[in-house]
Amino acid sequence: ADIALDMALRHRHSHQRYVEGQDEQHLRQLTLIRDLQDAVANGELWVAYQPKLAPRTGAVMQCEALMRWNHPTLGFVPPDEFIGLAERSGSIGMLSQWLLEHVCTQLDTWQQQGYRLSIAVNLSASDVIDHHLAHHLTQLFERHHLAPDKLSVEVTESAVMQDVDAAMNTLMELHRLGIRLAIDDYGTGYSSLAQIRRLPVKELKIDKSFIQAIDTQEDDLTIVRSTIEMGHSLGLEVVAEGVENRASAELLSTLGCDYLQGYWLAKPMASEQLIAWLDSFESPALPQPVSSMKTP
Ligand code: C2E
Ligand code: MG
Ligand code: MG
Ligand code: MG
Repeated sequence: ADIALDMALRHRHSHQRYVEGQDEQHLRQLTLIRDLQDAVANGELWVAYQPKLAPRTGAVMQCEALMRWNHPTLGFVPPDEFIGLAERSGSIGMLSQWLLEHVCTQLDTWQQQGYRLSIAVNLSASDVIDHHLAHHLTQLFERHHLAPDKLSVEVTESAVMQDVDAAMNTLMELHRLGIRLAIDDYGTGYSSLAQIRRLPVKELKIDKSFIQAIDTQEDDLTIVRSTIEMGHSLGLEVVAEGVENRASAELLSTLGCDYLQGYWLAKPMASEQLIAWLDSFESPALPQPVSSMKTP
């Protein structure tokens, strides 16, 4: 592809000194960009599902779909590596199409088996400015007999802010369809809640960098507490990702966080594993929120 050539040329001209590992790194990127184009057709992609828990009710009603790529020779390639490359080389659209088709088929299956789960998918900037997205989703829902509220879309603030007007258009269409919208990795971008509240957003997902050490870092706790309060006062539900231990889960539950997600509850799993996990799931007892009115 042109982009691969362009990257190779820029690499040639911009690096005079040999930096150990850099050529290998570059070669790997070029290989991944090339092979991504066939990953769908070759059946190399699959989806891992990570559940979210509502601490108030103890119920698991939703899981997030996370894309996985088994490269034929390089093995497991993490999404943090290949999603960015797919975005820059133009193959992300193909991956997202595959993902949406795949999760709708999965939802259809779960529905027939009597599981009332919904799925959240991650979309990229170019997906949320695509004029065809809403129409495409409508067709998928019809084909798979799904209510649109079975699907949520997670999008980062930076993806939306790349082209706010175009994104706003698509997001309004999705909203009108009945699809729930979440802002992912909240706190890592530069947008304010003032900007975000103009979007048809239902959910704020606080980035895991604020959550992972919430049980030991005062500052993180303060940031998360006020984010939950602000989110709630704007009518948003707040989700914590990266909840890694019980102490953090208890804290977040006490703060009134609406959903918890993280290794403490469960790691992302293949669909069969998720169902086995759900079948033996017992709701953990968590402390209920302390009303903020009562604290002096
Ligand atoms: P994300 O959407 O913010 O997803 C959360 C990431 O944190 C996932 O990494 C998940 O496995 C990981 N995680 C969950 N719980 C914990 C925890 O308790 N501790 C730690 N340390 N990590 C946890 P993953 O699956 O590697 O995905 C990384 C990112 O790649 C995602 O971040 C998302 O931005 C992107 N991504 C993944 N799948 C897709 C996709 O299908 N489409 C798009 N556009 N992006 C995707
Ligand atoms: Mg996400
Ligand atoms: Mg996130
Ligand atoms: Mg992330």
